[in-house]
Amino acid sequence: MQDLVGKAALVTGGSRGIGAAIARTLAARGADVAITYAANAQKAAQVAGEIEALGRKATAIQADSADAEAVRGAVDLAAERLGRLDILVNNAGIFPNGPMEEVTVEEIDRTLGIHVRGVFVASQAALRHMSEGGRIISIGSSLAQRPQFPGMTLYAASKSALIGFTKGLALDVGGRGITVNVVDPGSTDTDMNPANGEMADYQRSRTPLGRFGRPEDIAATVAHLAGDGGRFISGAMLAVDGGANA
Ligand code: NDP
Repeated sequence: MQDLVGKAALVTGGSRGIGAAIARTLAARGADVAITYAANAQKAAQVAGEIEALGRKATAIQADSADAEAVRGAVDLAAERLGRLDILVNNAGIFPNGPMEEVTVEEIDRTLGIHVRGVFVASQAALRHMSEGGRIISIGSSLAQRPQFPGMTLYAASKSALIGFTKGLALDVGGRGITVNVVDPGSTDTDMNPANGEMADYQRSRTPLGRFGRPEDIAATVAHLAGDGGRFISGAMLAVDGGANA
């Protein structure tokens, strides 16, 4: 399907994992795509090269999502290099975990900085470039609704903030014809949560479909929301978790 021809997308944290799959999928459906990354310039350049090989414009921009100025700059640069901006995917994320007593204020600030403030600022900046038909899609987590393990409090708190963010913003920008949604993945095989990791069997046992998600499974739903199929979906939380929270 080529329903994104003529559109331009920015995917934060697009150098690896779910973000890279989203970037490739949006490009395969016709979009020009900018990605941000934190540290991995080589992987980011590789993803951008794959997108260019599909005949699309691509650009990779280093921007720490915890740095509000860098985030604003990345959004404006993406719009400048691609000539427009129609789709923002707030994907960049980290996975803080461990006993509540040991969580530091620095960890709290960094996690909220990336998962909440970075999403807020990127969306604000992107909205200045978007017109009718714009899309803002954030990547939350199934752990926001049901943390499943001890030690998830900070991560779950940061990801559940995206639900309020999404519903609030859907009201704010609906009148402009822009949709806002959050996709909550379950266990997905990436560097963050490898399908052969220590807790992987437990996660599979809690997933009715009996397997980890592939990054492409999440990307398929994001592409649906980004495309024409998402035209009347806004303020929604879509679980893409193999039934983990059923
Ligand atoms: P990975 O660790 O595999 O990839 C993370 C990506 O985010 C990389 O591109 C990384 O860039 C980028 N990134 C990390 N920190 C920053 C930062 N401060 N600023 C900018 N970019 C950053 O993670 P996943 O692909 O697994 O996760 C993607 C999203 O999905 C996250 O929001 C995560 O919380 C969420 N999620 C993941 C699940 C899973 O089971 N994997 C389940 C539910 C949600 P670089 O390469 O430069 O480090």
